Amino acid sequence: MAIPIPSRQLFIDGEWRDPVLKKRIPIVNPATEEIGRVPGDIPAATAEDVEIAVDAARRAFSRNKGNDWASASGAFRAKFLRAIAAKILERKSELAKLEVVDTGKPLDEATSDMDSVAACFKYYAELAEALGAKQRAPISLPMQSFKGHVLKEPIGVVALITPWNYPLLMAAWKVAPALAAGCTAILKPSELASMTCLELAEVCKEVALPPGVLNILTGLGSEAGALLASHPRVDKIAFTGSTPTGIKIMTAAAQMVKPVSLELGGKSPIILFEDVDLDKAAEWTIFGCFLTSGQICSATSRLLVHESIAAKFLEILIDWSKNIKISDPMEEGCRLGAVASKGQYKKIMNFISTAKSDGATILYGGVRPQHLKKGFFIEPTIITDVSTSMQIWREEVFGPVLCVKTFTTEEEAIELANDTNYGLGAAVISKDLEKCERLSKTLQAGIVWVNCSQPCFYQAPWGGYKHSGIGRELGEWGLENYLSLKQVTQYVSDEPWGWYPPPSNQ
Ligand code: NAD
Repeated sequence: MAIPIPSRQLFIDGEWRDPVLKKRIPIVNPATEEIGRVPGDIPAATAEDVEIAVDAARRAFSRNKGNDWASASGAFRAKFLRAIAAKILERKSELAKLEVVDTGKPLDEATSDMDSVAACFKYYAELAEALGAKQRAPISLPMQSFKGHVLKEPIGVVALITPWNYPLLMAAWKVAPALAAGCTAILKPSELASMTCLELAEVCKEVALPPGVLNILTGLGSEAGALLASHPRVDKIAFTGSTPTGIKIMTAAAQMVKPVSLELGGKSPIILFEDVDLDKAAEWTIFGCFLTSGQICSATSRLLVHESIAAKFLEILIDWSKNIKISDPMEEGCRLGAVASKGQYKKIMNFISTAKSDGATILYGGVRPQHLKKGFFIEPTIITDVSTSMQIWREEVFGPVLCVKTFTTEEEAIELANDTNYGLGAAVISKDLEKCERLSKTLQAGIVWVNCSQPCFYQAPWGGYKHSGIGRELGEWGLENYLSLKQVTQYVSDEPWGWYPPPSNQ
């Protein structure tokens, strides 16, 4: 069944515009390997377009003082965020299909992503409304002759740079709070999966979002992305992507003392103690590592299993893995689709072959499923006999690859779990809730899951320790990312201040 793919331009100042240099990037469907002609292409912004978009966002931020997005009430902004949410739900099925064509993920997953996108916009509509009541919070000062309060002001024009694994959802995590805070924005999605972000532009047109408030520039990271990161008239960069790109962005932003928030990679552990229910633990282990073909920043891809249950647990895990339906992602019941690109496919396969040559055992998977001759499909893969110095244990694979080690004591489990440069997520599975509580304090990660892995609620802060990033998205912390604090201090005494003697002629 062919999915109609809209042909889109860049979205700048509330209008569709061709890129000045008319460049375009072909779309590749990772499940069929069709390229360009059938799936179509996306516009590629260059320096010329970045300038026009930054101008538009700046004008929208301060169009006529008092009548601009930044100084509009939270209730005014919330109205647009809710309208966007409603339109996303209205077009959910079409958007989900576009996401499948771009990313190769199962349609069920993409559909659930669209629900989360709409929920995120609704959530930040509420926070936009509540922002007014948080203004002018009094500061208790130690001198009665002064009173003070705090204003929370939008940071300005923000560049939002996002990855390909959850294209519209990662964009929503940034666009919704940025707009709720009163910032104007330029969204630069990944060149590998931009279609749904371009449809977000159409949604913005339909709800008559004021021109320039959200501009959407598709294009290469090394071109449009890098130009935005180093642009002197962009006030903040919010980035989700790999750690190496995060380092480049932070370096560019540092030249202008520009604030950054970074959501980066991970190599998260899942720890299974000896008292677990083996089937329940197997399902969470699989969900934690094979969902979205493992292309999740917080995937719990390092399994630490207690020595006493390891052999039995691995048998059960293999049974569960065999039962995962790998198919055309549009097919009903598909639970493992294609990985998102040829580059990603090759990268994952290289990780697996390096693990083999390093002496690890490919216990299950590690190959293309025999029944799928086309598309970037990889079987769920379980790797054992892994040492802590191996690449497969240390580096983020971003694919359906789980590596396994055993432990005998709680201390050993903690040491192995924390022995990584990353610190995004960690999961602990045990019936002993006191032990879980102890581990949730000692694990060095921004997110600790107890008796589960991966559930994500937009009310809770999301982000990592160590090389997994800086700052937190989602919840009220997500909104704070886009606000500056200003103190206002007022002298209220009738008496003169009296520090300097008055001139003698008074
Ligand atoms: P990536 O770093 O290659 O690209 C991310 C975005 O940055 C893309 O839009 C890309 O075009 C842009 N970009 C690339 N080079 C740039 C540059 N020099 N300057 C500015 N922008 C540039 O990452 P990816 O491959 O798209 O995504 C996978 C990575 O994202 C993984 O490492 C994953 O862990 C991470 N991720 C993290 C989270 C999180 O919440 N922590 C969520 C999703 C993905």
